[in-house]
Amino acid sequence: MSQSDTRNRRVLIVDDNEAIHADIRKVLCRQADTAELDAITAAMLNKQTHTREQIEYDIDSAYQGQEGLAMVTNAIEDGRPYAIAFVDMRMPPGWDGLETIKRLWEVDSMLQIVICTAYSDHSLEDIHEALDVTDRLLVLKKPFDDLEVSQFACSLTEKWNLASQNRQLVDNLEQNIEKRTLELQQTNVRLEREILEHKRTQEQLRHDALHDSLTGLPNRAMLMEHMRRCVERSKGEEDYIFAVLFLDLDDFKVINDSLGHRCGDELLTAVADRLSACLHLLDCVARPVKTTIARLGGDEFVILLDGLKDISDASVVAESIRDSLTRPYHLSGHDVVTTVSIGIATSLIGYERPDDLLRDADIALYQAKAQGKDRHLVFDNRMHDDAMMRLHIETEMRKAVESRQLLLKYQPIVDMKTGVIEGFEALLRWRHPERGLIPLDDFIPIAEETGLIVPIGEWVFRKACRQSAIWQRKFPDHPLTVSVNLSSKQCSRAGLIQMIDDALDETDCDPGRIKLEITETLIMEVSRTVNQVLDDIRDRGIALHMDDFGTGYSSLSYLHTLPIEAIKIDRSFVSNMGIDGKHAATIQAVVTLAHNRNMKVIAEGVESDGHLAQLQALECDFGQGFFFSEPIDADQAEKLLAHKNQWLRSA
Ligand code: C2E
Ligand code: CA
Ligand code: CA
Repeated sequence: MSQSDTRNRRVLIVDDNEAIHADIRKVLCRQADTAELDAITAAMLNKQTHTREQIEYDIDSAYQGQEGLAMVTNAIEDGRPYAIAFVDMRMPPGWDGLETIKRLWEVDSMLQIVICTAYSDHSLEDIHEALDVTDRLLVLKKPFDDLEVSQFACSLTEKWNLASQNRQLVDNLEQNIEKRTLELQQTNVRLEREILEHKRTQEQLRHDALHDSLTGLPNRAMLMEHMRRCVERSKGEEDYIFAVLFLDLDDFKVINDSLGHRCGDELLTAVADRLSACLHLLDCVARPVKTTIARLGGDEFVILLDGLKDISDASVVAESIRDSLTRPYHLSGHDVVTTVSIGIATSLIGYERPDDLLRDADIALYQAKAQGKDRHLVFDNRMHDDAMMRLHIETEMRKAVESRQLLLKYQPIVDMKTGVIEGFEALLRWRHPERGLIPLDDFIPIAEETGLIVPIGEWVFRKACRQSAIWQRKFPDHPLTVSVNLSSKQCSRAGLIQMIDDALDETDCDPGRIKLEITETLIMEVSRTVNQVLDDIRDRGIALHMDDFGTGYSSLSYLHTLPIEAIKIDRSFVSNMGIDGKHAATIQAVVTLAHNRNMKVIAEGVESDGHLAQLQALECDFGQGFFFSEPIDADQAEKLLAHKNQWLRSA
């Protein structure tokens, strides 16, 4: 056997006749010897001969079918299977040849069989039929022809080895295919995972683009899209109604500023949760087909009620929301209560664009706030006119300062004991080129809200200082004061003190002749900075007067802590003085307390000599009102200075 030849030549002989074993072994071994001889002869003659291949068989013997089966089983388990088995047809008392072959193939289906049979035994066809097999099987008729034995052995071992090779190839191929399939499957799984990841990222991006990050509610973009659909639908369907609720917390800024932004965020999240819970429950009351709750930013939320049965249901929902949101909140150790204002716009107006709907809900919200907050209002066209008017006034007001449409009137403040004019209150007027004199109530609140009161107030202060300086020069023997109204907006803005210093400096005005009138609301909004501003004003020698006293919440004992020189009693007390004794008693109490604390008292709204007499009896220090004079121009004011005795004589 050549070195490289690793072919399987294992042979098993299963026969009960010892002589057969010897015969077969002899034939197969001789075949090997002959091959060797051929090779030696060729070498001696030193010529290439075509030699028969050298074959060496590894032969085992079994004498019964059962024994053969055990050996084949062991060979398979050891990984060294037989290539061929010579099996005798008759082996009493055990299994016959056919039975043995069936059993052997059960454990080793590759085993090649040479079945040894006498002529009297079964025919070849019978055998094939009995075993249901035509390959892996040759039939050797007894008595043997040696050549046939060696040919059979040779061809069947070749066949086994070829089959084994094929099987190896197929196995390899199958393994390769399996490996590739596994790789493909793994790649598939990876790709699927990547696609899923990508999809998730995209969904997240889409979600983020349409939702508020703090509360997870839809944002403005999504709300607008839903509103657009509603607007479109309402154009085609007459019975279809929807409403938009614009909602704003009344005290959010205070909570945010005092408790910090984390608490503020917590409150917003809690509000979002309550809105969701509340609208969920409302589904059965107002039966909106669909609701969208969106946060626009800050403390602004919008609720879209899509498909209402009745338009009045919008108000029902608004009230339920107010009910829910005004219950106390527990935020990181703080108990917080807030109220909420809601503006409603409904599809009954007939909108073309969602922006208009939101704008009108916002206008209604603004009105709800202006009417004292903590309520809901439904938008109507009157509100729209109001809003347009306000917008118009705001635009016009911006021009008013530069185009000299503003002017000051002066109303005398009279000493009640002597009848001498102590000074004047400077009162603003706006003379519009087309619309004439515009009432203060129509523009001061707008100026306050828009912050325009700051440049306007600056103009007033300068103008008043200039007038005061003129009077200081003109009437050196009659020291006159000029009182100027200061709004809380001016006070809370940086730069007020600088503006005051500049104006005093430019106009060469004595600060001792200027009084600043502040209101109770300004004091109510008192913060450390406002207190500092008031102190700074006092430090410059400008006295502070408390205006409209009695209309707000401040108490006299509290006023004492502020640098206030005089109190102006609101005219509502004076005008009601004659009606019942209550107001007179109040004035009396204010005067006593003020005098105890070294403060002067000025009564506003003195309209008659009756008022004058009563106020004199109550020991008010000064009076101001139509009885003395309406607000007048500066030159008229100068003429009035001569009139002092007239008023007291008539009293
Ligand atoms: P106020 O500071 O209480 O001003 C007094 C108001 O009472 C003035 O109204 C004045 O004309 C009116 N008045 C005076 N005597 C009588 C009277 O006997 N009977 C009645 N019924 N009214 C009398 P006016 O000028 O319309 O000003 C209204 C308010 O506008 C002022 O109330 C003040 O709060 C504000 N205001 C006026 N000018 C300015 C200003 O320059 N700056 C700021 N921030 N506010 C101003
Ligand atoms: Ca005033
Ligand atoms: Ca007043």
